[in-house]
Amino acid sequence: MAASKYLTGDPSAIDAFLDKFDTFLIDCDGVLWSGDHVFDGIPETIKLLQSKGKRTVFVTNNSTKSRKEYFAKLSSKGIPCQVEDIFGSSYSAAIYISRILKLEPPRNKVFVLGEAGIEAELESEGIPYIGGTDPAYRKLGMEPADFAGIADGSSLDPDVGVVLAGLDFHVNYYKLAHAHGYLRGNHIKDAKNAKNGGKAVFLATNIDSTLPMYHSFFPGAGSASIVALSNMTGDQPLALGKPSQAMMDAVEGKFHLDRTRTCMIGDRLNTDIQFGVEGHLGGTLAVLTGVNKKEDWERTDAPAVPAYYVDGLADLRGASN
Ligand code: PLP
Ligand code: CA
Repeated sequence: MAASKYLTGDPSAIDAFLDKFDTFLIDCDGVLWSGDHVFDGIPETIKLLQSKGKRTVFVTNNSTKSRKEYFAKLSSKGIPCQVEDIFGSSYSAAIYISRILKLEPPRNKVFVLGEAGIEAELESEGIPYIGGTDPAYRKLGMEPADFAGIADGSSLDPDVGVVLAGLDFHVNYYKLAHAHGYLRGNHIKDAKNAKNGGKAVFLATNIDSTLPMYHSFFPGAGSASIVALSNMTGDQPLALGKPSQAMMDAVEGKFHLDRTRTCMIGDRLNTDIQFGVEGHLGGTLAVLTGVNKKEDWERTDAPAVPAYYVDGLADLRGASN
């Protein structure tokens, strides 16, 4: 495997790198910022790329915020962008449901295990949903009647066709038990004769194992609720965030990408870099301001190896022209 090319402090290598691409797909957390702290020189770097005629598309696995909220965050940090140039895992899941699954009424509702970002993107695609931030599902503990209603389906909604799980800061047993009831098909009366035994389709926005915050790590979407549902059902969800190629196909369709002239920039090997490598993009650029370091892709079991790397994205300002 070819070694990753280090670009920091090498103006001619940065020039050659920039010349190869028209579009940069840019991961957000760990590349532009860490939590709320924007790295030095990031707005200027994005402006530089745009001034060279490059398209900048922001691709994040953070399902808790909608594209509109991401637009507000990018703008407030002085990073020039348009809301159309943002692609999040919640939006990816919403367009997969509306354009690929094309659920027919009455079984067209989504049971959401997640935050408002998922709800906003489902609404943007006109998809009905239950669960999510509804306080009724934030109940702690279970009464005997809760078990009974989920078991015989009487307290479940027969219109649910999908369970969509992302990071849910309010995850609890009550919600998990409901999601599991839908994934088992408890809500469908004639389950034997129903498609897939009446089981709801199991989708995830993303399966990031960790959530880097405050110079530490917290449980990511994959660890907080999805692994619990997978363990209960024995099934893995179809995840629609990076590195899912369903997301890449949707990004390609929306932005009319020439994959050979597109580069994925990210900090995480098993989401961002794998996303670019498996999508056969022209290049991948790793930054060392986030989760993974050089020794991670030098391991024989590395999930993906970047073609290029820099200490930080702002090092691209070292181009000679
Ligand atoms: N999921 C959540 C809930 C997050 O808050 C973040 C980062 O802030 C991520 C995933 C990872 O996002 P990204 O793909 O931008 O690194
Ligand atoms: Ca990241």
